[in-house]
Amino acid sequence: MALFKTLDNTQGDKNPKKMDSEIEKVKCLIIGSGPAGYTAAIYASRANLNPVMYEGMEPGGQLTTTNDVENFPGYSEGVTGPAMMEDLKAQAQRFGTDVRFGLATATDLSQRPFKVTVDGNKLIETESLIIATGATAKYLGLESEEKFKGQGVSACATCDGFFYKGKDVAVVGGGDTAAEEATYLAGICNKVYLIIRKDYMRASKVMVERVMNTPNIEVLFEHKTKEIVGDMSGVTGVLLTNSKGEEVKKDIHGFFVAIGHKPNSDIFADYLETDEVGYIVTDPGSTKTKIEGVFACGDVMDSHYRQAVTAAGSGCKAAIDAERFLGAL
Ligand code: NDP
Repeated sequence: MALFKTLDNTQGDKNPKKMDSEIEKVKCLIIGSGPAGYTAAIYASRANLNPVMYEGMEPGGQLTTTNDVENFPGYSEGVTGPAMMEDLKAQAQRFGTDVRFGLATATDLSQRPFKVTVDGNKLIETESLIIATGATAKYLGLESEEKFKGQGVSACATCDGFFYKGKDVAVVGGGDTAAEEATYLAGICNKVYLIIRKDYMRASKVMVERVMNTPNIEVLFEHKTKEIVGDMSGVTGVLLTNSKGEEVKKDIHGFFVAIGHKPNSDIFADYLETDEVGYIVTDPGSTKTKIEGVFACGDVMDSHYRQAVTAAGSGCKAAIDAERFLGAL
């Protein structure tokens, strides 16, 4: 006996009445709404796969926390991250993607149709699954960092930089994200300390030059963060150690962490192969995972390029892979 009543949107029923205890059946489920997810949605809806997309915790993905995107083809004057994501969403919806607010909280990929739980209470069965869940900012793991999260500690300069207008702040990290955050903050804040644990920056040459040519950025090579200090008002300073083991204190009000990202693959890890960091492993040159009918695209499977345009490209591939998979059933 079926435990749940099922609803089937593969038969063209656009507005089925749903209850939390009912299972909804779909042909193509897309989890995640960054450039990869939306591009997959555009292609999947144009291929009549009637895709349903759950946007996840951060609708629009990481680019919604980015200021100017200057390297996405087609925007000759650049575009803000949120505006670009709105454009992609509108394009996906124009072709019929059912974009929904909700977070996938569990999966059962042991057999097809695959089962995905959304927000802990809604069950979806899907014939094909496109994983586009992206990656999340990493933190240093200090107790003091945890204590002052939201009170001076942030992982997003474009979200929170404004709160530190005219003040001194620090950014930790030596990659492109840190360089970008530091130069962005330099335009708002009085002074920016860029804390780098090595004696060089890993960021691209153009970004390093931009940092070095910004007068109110002071780069502190070979410095490690020991503790973030503060009081009831929030962060007031940061304690660092230099290469000689000496302690250095800087008075700051904002501490921005820009040390990389963790792929959002935890809910799939029991079924799919992941690398040591957690990136989902796909067949070379394709978005196919080790489970037929499950595809991964964008930052959750790409530890190398991690660009909006490469994520979009892999989203396109995922939709084409899903279409071919469903067509061959
Ligand atoms: P990266 O992994 O490239 O860099 C992380 C940085 O954080 C490194 O300098 C690393 O140091 C440092 N770091 C890591 N852990 C710690 C720690 N515990 N304490 C101190 N420092 C630490 O991440 P990004 O987010 O900068 O970039 C990710 C990808 O996205 C890259 O490919 C980048 O090119 C791309 N990107 C492109 C942009 C653009 O084109 N506009 C903008 C932003 C990102 P170490 O070097 O010592 O390992």
